[in-house]
Amino acid sequence: MQALTHHFIDNRWVASRGERRLPVTDPYRESVIAEVSAGSPADVDAAVTAARRALPGWRSLGGAARGAYLDALADALEARRGELEALSSRNNGKPRAEAEQDLSDAIACYRHYAGEARALDARQGEAVATGEAGLVSRRYRDPAGVAGLITPWNFPLVSSAWKLAPALAAGCTVVFKPSEVTPLPEQALAEIALAIDLPAGVFNLVHGDGEGVGAPLTAHRGVDKLSFTGSNPVGEAVMAAAARGIRNVSLELGGKSPILVTEDADLDLAAELVLAGFCYNTGQMCSATSRLLVHAAVAEALHARLDAAIAALVAGDPRDATTTLGPLVNAAQRDRVAGYLAAAEAEGLVPTTAEAIALPDHGHFVTPRVFRDVPTDSRLWREEIFGPVLCSRTVRDDDEAVALANDSDFGLAASVVAGDPARAEALAARLTAGNVWCNTHQVAPPGLGWGGMRGSGIGRELGRAGLAAYLETRYVTRPA
Ligand code: NAD
Repeated sequence: MQALTHHFIDNRWVASRGERRLPVTDPYRESVIAEVSAGSPADVDAAVTAARRALPGWRSLGGAARGAYLDALADALEARRGELEALSSRNNGKPRAEAEQDLSDAIACYRHYAGEARALDARQGEAVATGEAGLVSRRYRDPAGVAGLITPWNFPLVSSAWKLAPALAAGCTVVFKPSEVTPLPEQALAEIALAIDLPAGVFNLVHGDGEGVGAPLTAHRGVDKLSFTGSNPVGEAVMAAAARGIRNVSLELGGKSPILVTEDADLDLAAELVLAGFCYNTGQMCSATSRLLVHAAVAEALHARLDAAIAALVAGDPRDATTTLGPLVNAAQRDRVAGYLAAAEAEGLVPTTAEAIALPDHGHFVTPRVFRDVPTDSRLWREEIFGPVLCSRTVRDDDEAVALANDSDFGLAASVVAGDPARAEALAARLTAGNVWCNTHQVAPPGLGWGGMRGSGIGRELGRAGLAAYLETRYVTRPA
């Protein structure tokens, strides 16, 4: 069995000084396929030291040279595509087609920031109008420093790309802690860093859990910038750690996003988008649109289509081409979803999905569930479940849909399905969400931004804002 007992520090595989080992599982076969070190503060310290040492050289290399490394990284991922898709699918449980999409997204992200790194050179020293006669100024964009990057397990190689690509483009050096649940695909990034001769210390990967590596990394004063994707309780702990030393922090946290369907919507499209919004990645998405707000006139017709679409899902081996629903990532996640279903039962809520779909006799599967007329004070309506559970309410008009959509502690994403595109845009203008998709699937191309309002986080990833998250601005001013 593979044992991830070494971290990647200063371009060397360094034995972990952490004593604890954690099992890495295949959620379909319910088997242990590897073990990973839980890490230790001493490992974090070694990685931060290496990153600090590498910072001046990496910064002075310039954007064009850094962009060339990012292109090489994208090429290397492309070359290992099939193997990495299989690994991600095996470790996370996601259907192969979804793992393929993940790889495409990750590669596109590295290529996009290769371009941004090159463009950064031309943006250095731009003249800025000072607004005062006799004074001229130039603006420079400096790397934020050593970046500590922490990711969850639901989109391996994607969440990490959204952080690593802009951080490296900006000239930051990094200490990356992947989720201990899905370390296998992420480990490839260290192998690739070696293969493309990335300068030593620029990219460091430390395996471990929150206790062994996450908390020590966020507390380490040699880290200038923290970027975290994960749950709200841990996000709060990361922000509290960043407060010490007044260090910059980006947070991508949870969600409980709405999907609005108007009475003039194409109902086949609506059913497709509602299904994907809560069943893609088996609902383990921060952006899951798990609250359906459907106009009363089309509610029955939409739910009939949705029930048929759920019944047609194929739960099975994530590596089979026919599989459209994988297992949840592990037993803990299955128990968490089961806990919400038990809470629903205790609240007297009954799922409307008539029959459970056929499930394999092993694997952490749950049947997708739809609950209608869910009270707005129900835990099911308000809390992120991270599983294939949809709550639905009918609405009389657009005003009621918007009011219910915005009545949430989160503000990450929203979908609108409406026949009239102008009406969809008008609804989108009234929603509190970082991304609103109108009549289309959840897309996150690298040129746009990703992130949430309210409890969904602070800052944006992807796009120019995603680069700015790893830059500091310096103005140099003198008499004209
Ligand atoms: P999690 O918060 O349990 O773990 C996330 C990462 O933080 C892991 O690498 C974990 O080891 C680490 N960690 C745990 N304790 C820590 C600590 N005290 N200090 C520092 N790091 C620590 O989340 P998860 O279960 O891996 O992922 C699911 C959550 O992630 C969901 O809430 C989901 O909404 C969120 N998420 C958000 C986005 C987004 O873009 N907004 C994307 C994906 C997932």
